Amino acid sequence: MKIIIQKFGGTSVATEQSRLCVIAKILNAIKSDFTPIVVVSAMGRLGSPYATDTLLNFVEEAAGKMTLHETDMLLSCGELISAVTIATMLNNQGIQSQAFTGGQAGIITDNNHTEAELLRTKPKKLLEALDNGIIPIVAGFQGITINGEITTLGRGGSDTSASIIGVSVQAERIEIYTDVDGIMTADPRVCSRVHKVNKLSYNEVFQMADSGAKVIHPRAVEYAMRSDIPLIIKNTFSDDEGSAIMRSTFNFIHKMVTAIVHRLDRVQYSLEHSSVRLLAAIANKNISIDLINIFPNRILFTIDSKNQIKLEELLKEENCQFSKIDNCAKVTVVGESITGVPGIMARIATTLAKQDIRILQTADSLTTISCLIKEEELPRAINSLHEEFDL
Ligand code: ADP
Ligand code: ASP
Ligand code: MG
Repeated sequence: MKIIIQKFGGTSVATEQSRLCVIAKILNAIKSDFTPIVVVSAMGRLGSPYATDTLLNFVEEAAGKMTLHETDMLLSCGELISAVTIATMLNNQGIQSQAFTGGQAGIITDNNHTEAELLRTKPKKLLEALDNGIIPIVAGFQGITINGEITTLGRGGSDTSASIIGVSVQAERIEIYTDVDGIMTADPRVCSRVHKVNKLSYNEVFQMADSGAKVIHPRAVEYAMRSDIPLIIKNTFSDDEGSAIMRSTFNFIHKMVTAIVHRLDRVQYSLEHSSVRLLAAIANKNISIDLINIFPNRILFTIDSKNQIKLEELLKEENCQFSKIDNCAKVTVVGESITGVPGIMARIATTLAKQDIRILQTADSLTTISCLIKEEELPRAINSLHEEFDL
């Protein structure tokens, strides 16, 4: 049996028309002698009746703030509706199929609601279904604790479900179907000149996803990489062969820079205080810090804007003076071979200076260089860097 995972994202299952494209991809896989296990996201994006954000807004407006336990119970519904719909469409076409919750598919997690971590997998029921000629349609994004509580794996987590299941059944490959032809040199919604990259290493895509490229969840890349299972990003609505993500063989034809990615909703704080105790207090409030520079009398760092209120309450309690710049974005240049190459930072700084874009903060790693800028300057920054690095 040649098992493959086919994961379909929110836009792929959003409408009757798009669901027909999903069914066609599943039937194609069966025709090509593969045995698919399908993983689905909730239908559509905010505004669609069963999208994750629509469900969240509905209960918050109707009843107020939810506990994390209730949030997870609610969030699991969107993916379940998709799984039942796709399974029913297949059954009605004479293809035996069955919908599975994440728990039934054997995704066992800790009880860290809304950001649960995998503890172990129990794919027995999935494998039994396959042995009986039944195509499993698994609700993505969700798992179950050892006590039977429903959990979710973090926003965008249906990709993670696909990789977890792919590893648990030792699939030949994991196909992630979305609304673009593959991994692009920048987000096509922001940059007009993007093109698709055919082959990438796990590490490159992990860095892209971790730096904000929404096309795949970083954890999905991590799980696939650990078991060396190829990930393919494909378009539900085209026949393009997509982008293949695998172990680097150093013979991918690549430029030094692979992509320019970005993350929105950053706020930069400057604290007139340089206490390590304060950093510990910020961590205790579960506020994750993005870029950070510590000076003798000052700490400069960025956070996600959703944590602003929590952070400012804490700074008030601690009597800490601060200034902030909001509406920032982080733009990151990703390239597996930029490490140790002199002059890349200079090229980035010169390119942004030519566009009159002020760099508010920087950070680098072996494979990335990031600059914090004002959000309104992002399209100009991405387009000019895309041109500078000849992508
Ligand atoms: P899905 O609902 O299928 O999971 P997502 O919205 O999570 O889809 O991810 C697909 C989107 O990711 C694309 O529509 C695209 O705008 C965005 N994206 C951001 N960066 C990139 C990139 N470098 N390559 C391709 N897509 C990207
Ligand atoms: N529906 C979930 C979300 O919107 C999971 C996913 O789409 O991957 O975050
Ligand atoms: Mg997604």
